[in-house]
Amino acid sequence: MQDSTKTSSTNIPNEIPSLSSHPYRLMAPGPVQVHQAVLDEIQKPCIHHRTPEFEEIFSSVLQKIKKVFRTDQHVFLLSSTGSGAMEAALTNTLSVEDRILVIESGKFGQRWTKMASNYGVSTDILEVPWGQSVSPEAVRKKLEEKDYKAVLCQACETSTGALHPIREIASFTRDMSNTLLIVDGITAVGATPLPMDEIGIDVLVAGSQKAFMLPTGLSMIALSQKAERLADSAKLPNFYWNLAAERKANANNQTNFSSNVPLIRGLGVALDIMLANGLSQHIKRTNTLATATRAGAQQLGMKIFPETPSPSLSAFLLPEDIQSGRVRNHLEEKYNITIAGGQDELKNRILRIGHMGAISDDDAIATIECLGKSLNDLYPVICPEGRIAAAVEACKEAL
Ligand SMILES: *Cc1c(COP(=O)(O)O)cnc(C)c1O
Repeated sequence: MQDSTKTSSTNIPNEIPSLSSHPYRLMAPGPVQVHQAVLDEIQKPCIHHRTPEFEEIFSSVLQKIKKVFRTDQHVFLLSSTGSGAMEAALTNTLSVEDRILVIESGKFGQRWTKMASNYGVSTDILEVPWGQSVSPEAVRKKLEEKDYKAVLCQACETSTGALHPIREIASFTRDMSNTLLIVDGITAVGATPLPMDEIGIDVLVAGSQKAFMLPTGLSMIALSQKAERLADSAKLPNFYWNLAAERKANANNQTNFSSNVPLIRGLGVALDIMLANGLSQHIKRTNTLATATRAGAQQLGMKIFPETPSPSLSAFLLPEDIQSGRVRNHLEEKYNITIAGGQDELKNRILRIGHMGAISDDDAIATIECLGKSLNDLYPVICPEGRIAAAVEACKEAL
């Protein structure tokens, strides 16, 4: 079950001071647990960013990250959370007179709409019930009705755990010379198969504290050749998010503003870990953690919430009468494990567990075991103690 290849790359520091006797486990769908080798790299002495030493690190990271984006195009690194790269995606490709189509299937889809509206861009919404994935047919119909400058979607809608059919949507947009497919891949790039060039994604966004297994504070964005061409005539204002200026600086292995030296260093090591046995092995590991967690959780009476779940996280619907917020808080207070609850309309109805980051088999098993104990502590009638061992067994078997 636990062979050394699985655990060797997931040596996690569990020494965060706590009142609990349990080691701290960060099992949220972002921010995620960071590998010790990455933390060691991040805490190295600070060097100035305008130095040959840093330029060498930066240049190597820019090359390696293309392998995770699966693109020959340039990948930009920005000092911001993922939302910053989302904003860069809009301000570098759109103008106020443009009309865009936003696929809204949860919190992060809504963020696209709010952002675009703040910039005065006309936005049509293709609303998808929370937990469902968009139907490619519905997107195709919308594209036939009107001329859209861009279609915006999440690859994985983290608020519901749903995976969207990006490849199918791209099959419509890739032949449309004036329509871009802009994808928020913040919980997908590096955790699920999303080969940018092969699929034909035009703008792809990622973030450090999710699938890139780093602390919060770096975001990434890449533009296809079509997006680069349309970006030349984009008129939305920007200053910090000016990718043309960024590109010029990057050509000299520098960033336009001060570089996030510690996180870019850390990213170099995180990329080495992700690519050590090939990206597909890394993605397979994410899948295994998802399968094992789902097998265990189902034994505890929890149901998988989204109809097409993303491997990067699991969102579970709890048995009726259970308040997910109470369970989440209890798991953290008593067992020192952080997972996420539901937001907005899913508040107190679902629990979300991440499968990204440096997660060992022990972490996955402990999460299921302590989740079972938490349910049993709070709701002994709904979740009797006997279920815990069965859940742990199911989880172990799938690892
Ligand atoms: C986390 C996340 C974001 C961005 O959140 P930040 O807090 O700005 O990093 C955007 N989209 C999705 C799908 C996410 O999971």
